[in-house]
Amino acid sequence: MAQILDGKELAKKIRKNLKEEVEEIKKKGVTPKLAVIMIGNDSASAVYVKNKSKACEKVGIEFEEFLFDENITQEELIEVINKLNNDKSIQGILLQSPIPKHLNINKAVENISPNKDVDGFHPFNVGKLSIGEDTFISCTPYGIIKILEEYNIDIEGKNAVILGRSNIVGKPMIQCLLNKNATVTVCHSRTKNIEEIIKRADILIAAIGKPKFVKENMVKEGAVVIDVGINRLKDGSICGDVDFDNVMKKASYITPVPGGVGPMTIAMLLTNLVKATKNNI
Ligand code: NAP
Repeated sequence: MAQILDGKELAKKIRKNLKEEVEEIKKKGVTPKLAVIMIGNDSASAVYVKNKSKACEKVGIEFEEFLFDENITQEELIEVINKLNNDKSIQGILLQSPIPKHLNINKAVENISPNKDVDGFHPFNVGKLSIGEDTFISCTPYGIIKILEEYNIDIEGKNAVILGRSNIVGKPMIQCLLNKNATVTVCHSRTKNIEEIIKRADILIAAIGKPKFVKENMVKEGAVVIDVGINRLKDGSICGDVDFDNVMKKASYITPVPGGVGPMTIAMLLTNLVKATKNNI
């Protein structure tokens, strides 16, 4: 039976330390502040933004949401970003995705100051991660590395398999694992013989958004299984990309959904924001 990797508990511990750091920062006359740009009224995004706001509040970080109508133009969005870039009271800027299709997310993110890019999505920060320099690391992969470290799970020399190649999870995950000396394979929707590749994984990261895609028979005995997926089922419940109840019989460690990677993603956002504030000071 696998040991549960408790992201919720670890996130709590991280928040506790951050709260102390924020108190120290405030003594210097600076209050860390996160600006979140939200466009349109996607209900799932609204929940994510609310969770981020609550998490900020818990550690004493100020939070401001900038809500825009879905008809906002690319030029108007860039103007908003520039204003926030120039606002000295704001240390971190986040553009909540998804954004409406007429907007170019990459172009928008490119306009966020790399020093305030607490999501780690700016090409400058992505580049720095890829050459192994200190930077803002995309929050979900960063959180996963922190979970592995917390439980003293060896990464060096291991076969790590990532399912999914998105810019926010899969791709930065490749770099994070590579920087820790894993041998990394990444799978996507065109990958052939995916089950054979999954079976070779000592560390498996599932980030494809397909409910219970990873089954017990696909996983190697003793594998470490990290489930990034958040899928809402018809009955309203949430499940990951891994068939948790069965895979846990074979894995050595496994993250639950919810309570695994999700809380860590937000904890790392706060970590990045505190880092941005300290860099600023
Ligand atoms: P995404 O942008 O939709 O990317 C999904 C990736 O999975 C793509 O690379 C796609 O391949 C690949 N894929 C889809 N179906 C596949 C299949 N049957 N076999 C192999 N690969 C397949 O998704 P994302 O934003 O990375 O998110 C992935 C999941 O993680 C979602 O459930 C999301 O809600 C969740 N998520 C959770 C957190 C958290 O904090 N826990 C954070 C972010 C995302 P192609 O590139 O070939 O299309």
